[in-house]
Amino acid sequence: MKEKLVLCNKCGRMIESREDLVTAVNFVFVEPYHTKCYSRGVKSLNTVFLSNTPINGFMGNVSAVFSAILSFGFLFSSDMRIFSLIFFIPVLLRALSYFNYERYLK
Ligand SMILES: [Zn+2]
Repeated sequence: MKEKLVLCNKCGRMIESREDLVTAVNFVFVEPYHTKCYSRGVKSLNTVFLSNTPINGFMGNVSAVFSAILSFGFLFSSDMRIFSLIFFIPVLLRALSYFNYERYLK
């Protein structure tokens, strides 16, 4: 596996394990944070664009699975196909979080 440093978007230091990683949407980008930095970050200035819901972790996985099912379901309904696209976004973000950061950590 290719090595890649995952740097916290808040303090700029390296994130060493998946347990210490929180990925969240900041504006339109998926960004990595330390667990501590994230919980502090949500209370500080850049909360306007920073999502309160982490993408990784248990809840992130659950909502990605639900979104995938809904997205797939709406694909077959001809007048509501747009929802398929909307529900696909969380699935895409979950995948981005994994491929950009989580797979580089233990
Ligand atoms: Zn940090």
